[in-house]
Amino acid sequence: MNSTHLLRPALLWLALQTSVVAQHPLPDRDKVHADPPAITVIEHVNVVTMVDGGAPLMDATVVIANGRITALQGPIPDGAVRVDGSGKWMIPGFTDMHVHIPSDGFMGPKKHPTQGPDLHLNVQDLMTPYLANGVTQVFNLDATAGSMAQRNLIERGDVLGPHMALAALIDGGEGQGRRVNSPAEGRQCVRDAQAEGYEFIKVYSELDTATYRAILEEAALRRMKTVGHIPDAFQKDLAAAFQPNFGMVAHAEEFSKHSADFTEADALRFAQLARQGGTWVTPTLTTIRWMRQRIRSLDELRALPSLKYMHPLIQQKWLKANHYNRDFNAEDADHFDRMVLFQARLVKAFQEAGVPIVAGTDAGTSGVVPGFSLHDELELLVAAGLTPREALAAATRLPAVWLGVDQERGTIAVGKAADLVLLDADPLADIANTRRIHGVMLNGRWLDRATLDAMLLDLAAWNTANRDRFSWPPKR
Ligand SMILES: [Zn+2]
Repeated sequence: MNSTHLLRPALLWLALQTSVVAQHPLPDRDKVHADPPAITVIEHVNVVTMVDGGAPLMDATVVIANGRITALQGPIPDGAVRVDGSGKWMIPGFTDMHVHIPSDGFMGPKKHPTQGPDLHLNVQDLMTPYLANGVTQVFNLDATAGSMAQRNLIERGDVLGPHMALAALIDGGEGQGRRVNSPAEGRQCVRDAQAEGYEFIKVYSELDTATYRAILEEAALRRMKTVGHIPDAFQKDLAAAFQPNFGMVAHAEEFSKHSADFTEADALRFAQLARQGGTWVTPTLTTIRWMRQRIRSLDELRALPSLKYMHPLIQQKWLKANHYNRDFNAEDADHFDRMVLFQARLVKAFQEAGVPIVAGTDAGTSGVVPGFSLHDELELLVAAGLTPREALAAATRLPAVWLGVDQERGTIAVGKAADLVLLDADPLADIANTRRIHGVMLNGRWLDRATLDAMLLDLAAWNTANRDRFSWPPKR
């Protein structure tokens, strides 16, 4: 399956009924954006540190000063703002390791070279669903210059949103975007991506084997990790795809494509290939489940409570131009049913083989709502056989290690950045408790439930009020 689901602004062929999209202020903007207090203390809280093997710290006193954790026990400093954490459970902020985030783009005909985008997306609105769900870091697997602009707004503090890792996507053949069809072109493209400021490389389905190999080699020389699809050119020799510096497979589906009958033997073989290659896996179980649902019917998507947090245009795209619903049939649905089961089996096989699994959702694809979907993925990982602790590690500690930011975040320890989630109940007892968010701390800024709810309410209200201003053509 070639997931050309990416919302690339340059490829959007929508008709904007109005060319200027009004921005709207945040609720309580002053409250949300005011400088956080120098010192915040969360008292009497149970801390799931996610440090490997560590037991929860019960009734801890977490001191946060200037955006960092400075103590997990001990006295409360003078002048600290105190948050009551009695009966609550603290965990590190979540990472979604596979997302797509749209940015401003050109929709109508370009009239002159200095014209600006005619679709403006409110960056806070794009980030609010992540933040409200405790997702404080994301890995954008098809980043653009627009993504960098978003990253900069967030890191400067103008927008409250997740830290972003950005991968430049490289494809071959007649694919979209950066297209390379020789080893020399592949190497140059990696060098260009690094020069443009990307930290990671995403390899894609239509690369030929020699070009793919050259990209991995050049990226290794430049200390850039790679993630991506297994190019179709490896259909006859899957093992050959697992070369040094193939850092992570972006979907379990990339393996499923290489199994004719979804056997146990295939699951074990794939797990060994990943293990021997030192390749991690982002299963994206939630996106394959949604593909299966969408082939059968759009009813679940239409009724999805979090649909209202998507931009009106995206809602229309999902409901009126749904590729899987339109172009697949009942036989395909049966195939997807078996693939859903096989991919759960794959997760267990990877885990047993010692292949690190990280949580990614493919947020931005139909049905996969940013932030909310991370909790779906955690539940699916546990249903596939991970323990709640393993699933939590897949969304906290392990992504930080893969991205090379584990000195900064991913666990709760003195010196780490204060990106934290406070839950109403123990996530180790029931993974569904990750949805029960009492508040989120981002860079030391405490956002309580009421603030998060106000941000979500504002977003949904704007999307609903502006629904009729956008239209997505049903078919080109
Ligand atoms: Zn994707």
